[in-house]
Amino acid sequence: MEHIQETLVKYWGYDNFLPLQKQAMECVSRGQDSIVVLPTGGGKSLCFQAPAVTMQGLTVVVSPLISLMKDQVDALKECGVPAARIDSSLSAYEQQAVFSAIRDKRLKLLYLSPERIVSDGFVELLRKTGVSFIAIDEAHCVSMWGHNFRPEYRQLGLLKEVFGDVTIGAYTATAIEQVRNDIAEQLHLKNPRMLIGSFDRPNLVYKVRRRANIMKQVCAVLDRHKGESGIIYCIRRKDVDAMCAQLAAKGYNVAPYHAGMTDEDRKKNQDSFITEKVETIVATIAFGMGIDKSNVRYLIHTGMPKSLEHYQQETGRAGRDGLEAECCLFYSGGDYGIWKSLMSDMEPEAQKIAMFKLSRMYNYCTGGVCRHKAILRYFGQELDKNNCSACDMCLGELDCIDDALQTAQKILSCVLRLEQRFGGGYTASVLTGSHEKRILENKHDELSTYGLLSNYEKHTVHDWIEQLEGQDYIEKVGEYNILNVTEKGWQTLKGKETPRLLRPAQKTAKVSKVIIDSWEGVDENLFEALRKVRAAIARKKGVPAYIVFGDAALRDMARRRPSTTERFLEVKGVGEIKCQQYGKVMLAAVRDYCLTNSLEMDVD
Ligand code: ADP
Repeated sequence: MEHIQETLVKYWGYDNFLPLQKQAMECVSRGQDSIVVLPTGGGKSLCFQAPAVTMQGLTVVVSPLISLMKDQVDALKECGVPAARIDSSLSAYEQQAVFSAIRDKRLKLLYLSPERIVSDGFVELLRKTGVSFIAIDEAHCVSMWGHNFRPEYRQLGLLKEVFGDVTIGAYTATAIEQVRNDIAEQLHLKNPRMLIGSFDRPNLVYKVRRRANIMKQVCAVLDRHKGESGIIYCIRRKDVDAMCAQLAAKGYNVAPYHAGMTDEDRKKNQDSFITEKVETIVATIAFGMGIDKSNVRYLIHTGMPKSLEHYQQETGRAGRDGLEAECCLFYSGGDYGIWKSLMSDMEPEAQKIAMFKLSRMYNYCTGGVCRHKAILRYFGQELDKNNCSACDMCLGELDCIDDALQTAQKILSCVLRLEQRFGGGYTASVLTGSHEKRILENKHDELSTYGLLSNYEKHTVHDWIEQLEGQDYIEKVGEYNILNVTEKGWQTLKGKETPRLLRPAQKTAKVSKVIIDSWEGVDENLFEALRKVRAAIARKKGVPAYIVFGDAALRDMARRRPSTTERFLEVKGVGEIKCQQYGKVMLAAVRDYCLTNSLEMDVD
């Protein structure tokens, strides 16, 4: 382990392990099979990369996507680790070069697709040269229970046979037990050690609001993150195009991404995002698979995903570097309706599961508890703190209203007075005393419940109606989402049940502790200056900026402000090779800035 720790410092510039990394690395170096389940950003890649550097011989990594392989191999080379990949995007000449490197035993890590590693020619070659360890990345692809089953992964069951009982490590971010058991079985692992981390992503700041004026809501988030990278997810392609056009017209630096575009256009936009020529990508959820960009600082959902599994996976693309990232979800009751109708053609059993997941997602949106707690509970884990300090609830952005029972009773009575024949928008208009023509024509201004909540804006009351639905006091029926009062709703009318109703807080909300901590001691202008230097290096080398240095390393530089190479090596995320390559230029930038601004250097 000592050797591994030295490697971690030398190549990656990290002097501590992230949770479970040490145990996962021990398994590799001891030759014990393992299944490592860590959330996105949990540091899974280092679990096999660091031991691979210390071991004799070659480690083979099986990975499902060319883009993922490319990203990891580029990052390893940047750190000075001899790594390569073989995939269909390489020319015959490039492939030959990798073959010679394998034969000459010059490589430490080789990335391959599942099809390739079990192909005859490769098995022969690798048998001759020897394989010391096999890492299966994104191992949930083995399982039909996972969200991304890949039939090619099933063939990996052969590995134990063809490579004479080689040690295997399987790595995934998918939590559920069926998937874990399936991985062990399909890969014929021997007594694998199961290392299962916490699924909490403490650096993600979750915020949920009902969709009102979506352009205004989205722009507010973008304005909080000027110059930073982010993703906006829309449910449909046409929404992607519309939102992108409107944002571009307002001067935001955006590009679209969806399956209706040509491969070429999609690739161009994805590359522009990765290399930070474009700040914000507006996309359907097709975007993000296979993207390792570590510094996505905000992620916006303009519609509700169909399950918390999807939400967890999509938000997983933010804040992979462990620094804060804001995840805003704007939902509406209509989203629930859209998903429900899309699910109407499913087989009954599958539909039951999908509907269950959909209602849990909707409960999450409308529910009034800590978002981190709610997500973790869904995945069967508990949060070990009372206040996460990283969601709209814990930051006090939403208040529970005091007179929730009376307010709910007013709403439910109005639904009954309207004879359970109208939807949420109409009911909210009646309650707030609107003079809309249709209300007057229907003589609903004569109802006793008309204008009962006229002290509030219509969108606030509409919000409460959604919240009552999310907590099962009201249900929506039929094609037009007509409101009906449920049994629980009747109990509320009798005063026997009290719902929780939320509204935006009147007082200013707190700033998340995650944000305060990650910026502590960092000179923000120096950070910006260093970002520019990093961008110039990245452009010159033709690699993404975050592969040169992650945001976490840049912030640590802007915190420590090193004046010498020795001090520069103390920065988290600066290993020896990166120090040799970029030390001079980064140190010069730090020195210039500190001199100009009379700022102290070498801060501990
Ligand atoms: P995953 O594959 O689990 O999503 P990665 O392997 O991409 O996670 O790691 C996420 C981020 O954490 C990367 O920026 C990586 O460099 C960083 N990281 C990994 N291990 C450590 C460590 N021991 N100390 C600090 N940062 C680390």
